[in-house]
Amino acid sequence: MNSIVIVGGGIAGLQAAQILQRKGLDFILIEKSMSLGGRVQSEEFQGYILDHGFQVLQTAYPEVQRSLQLSKWDLSYFQSGAYVLNEGKFKPFLNPLKSPLLFLKNLNAAGATIFDFLRLAWIWLKTQGSISPINSDPETTSELISRYRFSEKFQRNFLRPFFSGIFLDDQLGPPASLFFYYMKQFLEGRAALPKQGMGAIALDLASGIPKDKIRTGVSVTEIKGKSLQLNNGDTLHFDHLLVATDPKQACELLKIDFPPQAHFGSKTFYFSMDKKLETLLPLIHLMPLYSSPLLHFSCLSQVNSALAPEGKHLISATSLQMDLTDKEVAQELARVLGLSPNDFIFLKSFSIPHSLFKVGFFTEVCQKAAEENIMLVGDYTLFPSLQAALSSGRNAAEKILQDL
Ligand SMILES: Cc1cc2nc3c(=O)[nH]c(=O)nc-3n(C[C@H](O)[C@H](O)[C@H](O)COP(=O)(O)OP(=O)(O)OC[C@H]3O[C@@H](n4cnc5c(N)ncnc54)[C@H](O)[C@@H]3O)c2cc1C
Repeated sequence: MNSIVIVGGGIAGLQAAQILQRKGLDFILIEKSMSLGGRVQSEEFQGYILDHGFQVLQTAYPEVQRSLQLSKWDLSYFQSGAYVLNEGKFKPFLNPLKSPLLFLKNLNAAGATIFDFLRLAWIWLKTQGSISPINSDPETTSELISRYRFSEKFQRNFLRPFFSGIFLDDQLGPPASLFFYYMKQFLEGRAALPKQGMGAIALDLASGIPKDKIRTGVSVTEIKGKSLQLNNGDTLHFDHLLVATDPKQACELLKIDFPPQAHFGSKTFYFSMDKKLETLLPLIHLMPLYSSPLLHFSCLSQVNSALAPEGKHLISATSLQMDLTDKEVAQELARVLGLSPNDFIFLKSFSIPHSLFKVGFFTEVCQKAAEENIMLVGDYTLFPSLQAALSSGRNAAEKILQDL
């Protein structure tokens, strides 16, 4: 019998595992932390559900539709668009495809000119049909936005902060092809929050996998030929190996230097509030680029009331500044909302230095893995997203099924 080992119980590893399970194959999944989900985890804290970093579930991702049992979940949705800080006030800038009347009513919200709208319409036309998230064009998202000559105000108020929030990169270095890909998802799809938090994704994938096929709290420290060395002293033999760790660990296991500056970090703060925000729509609030330590904030319980105890409100705020403190965040929220810092009761923060990884930085490790007949699985092998994590997990599982 061929033995299959999956190293890493993030979304990619779990996806591969559940596909193998459905086909009746035997395997073992090793996860170094005590819980599954990797970068997608949620925890209960004082009655609030907190995700480890602000994330949304894009329901239009093809792999999300194919792999997750969304109809069984209690999903709530962000409205498509964003609150934009324009002349000291948050105004709703809405997706005309989803909320045409509100869009027209708030036409001026983001300070966009008629030419900005025409350029957006052109981009929307370009997103029709299938869009490849990665192509050979070296243009970055920042270069694309400059080339399209959007007005300064619209760039600063909406376009750049919105995409900085997606890429967790305020320089907008990711490829322009990803800009079009994500734009299509946001224009046509919906951004959801499950009532159990984003960790529901991992729970859903893991639900079909027998517990005896998963070992948590154990890590792989070395790959030696067709054996794995574990940190508890055990050795595991494999015929097929899926390395579904983060790329830093994959580089270490394959003895390749982790490329410098290949990652983006972020820090998410959670606060409780007793009163509702005046901005009542379930929208993300964007901060104009470089004029705030925050990228964006949201009242998550306005999107899904199950995330906070009754009568309380849950605010999340995300920054790229890893040394920012909760007091500074409360002051900034109070400043832009015209409230007191005491209105924001700090719950918890999550610093994630390796939140997302840069596209195209991991060809060396992917090549070495291919030479050694090891399958690398994870979002970084394609592009940063749940879609890519799920799809790389599926590709690896299907390759094993073909080989057997
Ligand atoms: C703050 C933040 C915001 C994000 N926002 C979004 C969003 O809004 N939408 C979206 O689509 N995506 C978003 N993402 C990206 C998404 O979370 C990732 O694409 C996805 O979780 C990657 O899953 P993965 O399985 O590839 O990797 P990981 O989640 O990194 O999983 C790797 C697993 O391997 C384990 N591991 C590592 N080394 C070892 C070892 N030696 N032995 C055993 N196990 C090991 C780790 O503990 C981990 O569980 C966001 C990510 C972050 C952090």
